[in-house]
Amino acid sequence: MTGGVINETPANRHHDCDVLIIGSGAGGATTAAILAEAGHQVLIVEEGEWVDQGTVVPFSLEQMDRQYRSGGVTVALGLPSIAYTEGRCAGGGTEVNSGLYRRPPEETLERWRREYSIAEFGSDPLFEILDEVENALSVQTVPGEHTESSEILRRGAAALGWDHDEIPRWMTYPESGAAIDGRRQSMTRTYLPRAFAAGANMLTEHRLDRIICKGSRALRAELTSTSNEDRPVTISFRDVIVCGGAIQTPAILQRAGFHHRIGRTLAVHPTVKLAARFDSEVNTPDDVPVYQVKEFAPDLSFGGSASQPGLVALALTDNWRDFGSAVTSWPDIAVYYAAITSQGRGLVQAIPGVRDPLVTYRLTSRDRHLLGQGLARLALLMLEAGAVEVFPSFRGAPAVRSRADLAEMTANFAATKASVMTVHLCSTVPMGENEDRCAADSFGKIHGADNVYANDASLLPDAPGVNPQASVMAVSIRNARHFADVRS
Ligand SMILES: Cc1cc2nc3c(=O)[nH]c(=O)nc-3n(C[C@H](O)[C@H](O)[C@H](O)COP(=O)(O)OP(=O)(O)OC[C@H]3O[C@@H](n4cnc5c(N)ncnc54)[C@H](O)[C@@H]3O)c2cc1C
Repeated sequence: MTGGVINETPANRHHDCDVLIIGSGAGGATTAAILAEAGHQVLIVEEGEWVDQGTVVPFSLEQMDRQYRSGGVTVALGLPSIAYTEGRCAGGGTEVNSGLYRRPPEETLERWRREYSIAEFGSDPLFEILDEVENALSVQTVPGEHTESSEILRRGAAALGWDHDEIPRWMTYPESGAAIDGRRQSMTRTYLPRAFAAGANMLTEHRLDRIICKGSRALRAELTSTSNEDRPVTISFRDVIVCGGAIQTPAILQRAGFHHRIGRTLAVHPTVKLAARFDSEVNTPDDVPVYQVKEFAPDLSFGGSASQPGLVALALTDNWRDFGSAVTSWPDIAVYYAAITSQGRGLVQAIPGVRDPLVTYRLTSRDRHLLGQGLARLALLMLEAGAVEVFPSFRGAPAVRSRADLAEMTANFAATKASVMTVHLCSTVPMGENEDRCAADSFGKIHGADNVYANDASLLPDAPGVNPQASVMAVSIRNARHFADVRS
């Protein structure tokens, strides 16, 4: 039996399944594939549309409009507020992200196991799962030519003697092997087809509004079509697994009546950016650099961002009066980031009658200091790589043209004036047996619930200090296999 995307018609406004999976990103797609292959009757619901890879230009405004939640304009309130983005489409964040693959560090997994009392959480079995993931997603380094914006990071780091490496990506490359020709191996190209081949079905463009519970037992789900708000859909299930990502999952669980440790420990990797201008073309609008600089890891790391002309303009807006004219030379400009591991935490709170949850995040004073330090070191790296001018993203920033300008930049920096953003969101439903700290058990079952689970980035006990998708996939596959064993 094969499944696939089903079209909602007036005749099928009610569905039944064994396992309902909310969301089809890194967590949801892998869970669906494992459970369908284990013989469960799986239905996935996804709020966003199905967009085939290659039909939308990566990192374009059209992509933001069609595949990001709220067009990419979402914010965690704080001092400073932090702009964050979430994928909202079949495949979730895996469709729109940079595809940079990092295994979680062994010591991070060990710390999570210890501090959160996660049962059966050895790093070896998780790394074995990652061997499979790397195979399934064709994780590899660029076989051919790198882009110039990648080379800049490598050159600058090498000149300073700073530790750096090329990050493999989930990409396939045609014969040319050039970075620019890579094809992202997202969930719509890997685990979702696998789930369909095993019989899973998927309802796209339907938003889960509420899971109706009686006591600790979830009974049914109520959904709305995103194209026709007057068309409610209900779904009955034996078990429901929420994989809506680290912002939506806690809000969904809170609306269902679950509150213990849910949404209280949002963890992110905050970043600050700069735009660097060179004396020749460096901009690759539809790709990102593949090098990362890890000299100051885990506290600080540097990498490259998407540099579509609109995003170059955005990086210049903090001091538009002085920087704005540079936008006309956007082909010579690329955008880079400094990311920190944050000691701060945030809150996600569902608000009655309001569609999106309220998100707040509090950076610590150490975090704020580190952001300034990161920006200064990144600006230095750009100068070493040959930048003519560096435009830091904070209000009132001076342009940096030489090492001498770095002192003025540092003196003027305050995190409260900076455009801080993040794309790595985790830890709002932390897992483990330590109920003082955890919202779900060691395999994602919500504490206090009979048949409600989470299985996505929200389960990671904190932000892993590296690009998180591999960690999300390893944990989700592990938990799905455990579920298949105990619920068969
Ligand atoms: C721009 C960007 C760049 C990134 N770059 C990288 C990178 O290079 N490397 C890396 O490792 N990680 C990267 N990430 C992070 C990575 O994509 C995420 O960690 C990962 O996708 C999280 O998986 P998830 O399953 O938790 O959530 P998601 O992948 O976000 O999936 C959640 C899905 O649930 C759906 N959903 C939510 N609520 C509902 C609802 N009520 N009803 C129905 N459906 C719902 C959403 O529409 C979404 O499709 C990036 C993320 C972004 C946004």
